[in-house]
Amino acid sequence: MRKKDLTLWCTIIVLLLVYQPSIYALSNITDVRYWSAPDHTRIVVDSDQPLSFKTIELKKPLRFVVNIEGARTSFPRKNVDIGDSVVHRVRVGQFNKKTLRLVIDLVKPVQSTVFTLKQYSDKPHRLVIDLNRSDLEQKEKEARLKQKSREHSIIVIDPGHGGEDVGAVGQKRTYEKNIVLSLAKQLKDDINQRKGFKAFLTRTGDYFIPLEKRVAIAREYGADFFISLHTDANFSKRVHGASVYCLSIKGASDEAAKVLAERENKSNLFRGVSYADDKELDSILIDLVQTQTINDSLRFGGMVLNEMSKVHTIKFKQPKQAGFAVLRATEIPSILIETGFISNLEDEKRLKSKAFQGKLARALSTVSFEFVTLLAKRDGISIPAVTTSKGKRAASHLVKPKETLWQIAREYNTTVAELVKVNKLKKADHLIVGKRLLIP
Ligand code: ZN
Repeated sequence: MRKKDLTLWCTIIVLLLVYQPSIYALSNITDVRYWSAPDHTRIVVDSDQPLSFKTIELKKPLRFVVNIEGARTSFPRKNVDIGDSVVHRVRVGQFNKKTLRLVIDLVKPVQSTVFTLKQYSDKPHRLVIDLNRSDLEQKEKEARLKQKSREHSIIVIDPGHGGEDVGAVGQKRTYEKNIVLSLAKQLKDDINQRKGFKAFLTRTGDYFIPLEKRVAIAREYGADFFISLHTDANFSKRVHGASVYCLSIKGASDEAAKVLAERENKSNLFRGVSYADDKELDSILIDLVQTQTINDSLRFGGMVLNEMSKVHTIKFKQPKQAGFAVLRATEIPSILIETGFISNLEDEKRLKSKAFQGKLARALSTVSFEFVTLLAKRDGISIPAVTTSKGKRAASHLVKPKETLWQIAREYNTTVAELVKVNKLKKADHLIVGKRLLIP
């Protein structure tokens, strides 16, 4: 072929490619995955390009339909059987030449949130379908509220990340979300063996919960304190060891802590369902309660580092502080433990081992017991912490030395917000020894 002809043919081929956009513009759906939580199901559609969609709700039988425009599928599965409390199955099919249709067969009516996530790290473009059963959510909440107790010390353990949010990834492809869930379960079992203690988890399986919801769950349980479990990662594969973090409302203790908090707070990029900020706890309450809570958290964090050092390498000897969203329960002492660097081979191997997780869980449950004992001694409460007979409500309360609003609220089975409202409290110095507080 002459050079001139070759150039001509090449031009023709290029023009054909350019003028046949319908073939090349179609997004390719590569997978449909799902995550089941007790009250919601998240369905994730993977694609090689950003997706646009329309949703339709159908009755008799109940279905939620998502039409994905300009898409075709290259994966062979046509049905994804889910069979949880929200979704029976997802049926995937080509609705017409350019539209791919997902028909989701529902168990009961749902609230839906559908949104897209951009390509990130090794994740493709994604369409996220969150289906939430508010009736089950309400039941879960009621069950948690029932656990509020003055006879037990309640510890809420929060395994970080979950579901689509895998957290940090190890060199051997270990996921942070799996390690912390396994560790949290062991810690829960260990704590529950101690008399006068009850432990609960914010998530019990592989699914995602927004950070604010984790805080709300701790409050609903009436947690005495809150432990969020994570694993760290670093570009340098040599960095290793555990560290403990507390909330700071006045800025981070150093740049590294700030960067870490920003990374952990990124969990909320996987949200979709928005949880309103707790307006009940305004700046007045922060003044009143936060300083004491953060001091208690720092104290607890120090004790945790000390106890963990008996079984594990510690990176920083003191707790560090930054603006972690999951530690924002104003009235609950809360710490975040980075149990090690999953990016370090030795730490990854250790953290994966059930035996090591058991050791760590034992250390954390021991120190939890010590912390509660310490608080009880300071506040003059005997363990189990029972100060009034159940259901008894006094009309007023005389403030004793070192007492906090949170303790008083707990004693009378009310909330800090109610106490502040009823007593028209404005500043921290209004809580003075000998002051008589009205009990709502
Ligand atoms: Zn994390």
